[in-house]
Amino acid sequence: MGRYDGRVAVITGSARGIGFAIATRLAEEGASVAVVDLDEAAATEAAGRLPLTEGARAVGIGADVSRSADVDAAIARAVEELGGIHVLVNNAGITRDNLLFKMTEDDWDLVMGVHLKGAFLMTKAAQAHFVAQKYGKILNLSSVSALGNRGQANYSAAKMGVQGFTRTLGIELGPYGVNANAIAPGFIATEMTDATAARLKMDVEEFRRLSGEANPVRRVGFPEDIAATAAFLCSDEASYITGQTLYVDGGATLV
Ligand code: NAP
Repeated sequence: MGRYDGRVAVITGSARGIGFAIATRLAEEGASVAVVDLDEAAATEAAGRLPLTEGARAVGIGADVSRSADVDAAIARAVEELGGIHVLVNNAGITRDNLLFKMTEDDWDLVMGVHLKGAFLMTKAAQAHFVAQKYGKILNLSSVSALGNRGQANYSAAKMGVQGFTRTLGIELGPYGVNANAIAPGFIATEMTDATAARLKMDVEEFRRLSGEANPVRRVGFPEDIAATAAFLCSDEASYITGQTLYVDGGATLV
């Protein structure tokens, strides 16, 4: 028996990186999964690679989480094609890093649009189902950058906003059988952090090595570290936990 047998999970930005690792882990534990990502072909290809258990299904759905029409259509399709929705993971993310004096209005709006408006729209669409069935799990991706990070005024503000959003969901939706929590990852080796290395004109392996050395556990994180945490927080074993943000960062924020 898997923890997610008979459950349907909708995971945004899950064609690759952390989102794909979460999709993989929930599929291994029995879930049917909707892989929602900007590019429907990439989402469908990723859905085809999930290690589904018997009777589970997966679908790839193209949607921009910052557009309400896309979001409503994506949730409706997931519910129709997979038979419901029990878990929502708001993982889609982008960075548009720059020092404040060089940051453009577009850099600000794009980052807020994906992380904050995207999580708001997806959650609003999903909660209608969750409240009606008195069951739902919401997981939002924050970041250690919520605590402040040079060159990330937009991303940092969005990721701390995600934490406030999560706490409020905990308060509003708790009485309806819905849990909402967040994970704040530290350095996780994905294309997002590879892009940061490129921006800093550093070799990817060297960037990872230096980032790992700065951590108490002396390594960088991997998408599977976040997936294991997600699989716990979205399970019934975590039903007394809500509104929380768990830092999964190898101790980076301790030092
Ligand atoms: P990633 O490898 O860049 O993957 C992000 C995914 O989100 C991509 O597939 C991307 O699609 C998709 N996406 C972007 N904008 C979207 C939109 N408007 N609608 C739907 N999908 C969209 O990133 P990651 O490293 O896995 O990060 C996943 C989450 O964890 C993000 O929220 C990120 O902020 C957070 N996080 C990451 C780290 C880290 O160290 N990696 C640390 C802390 C927090 P395209 O490929 O088409 O752009």
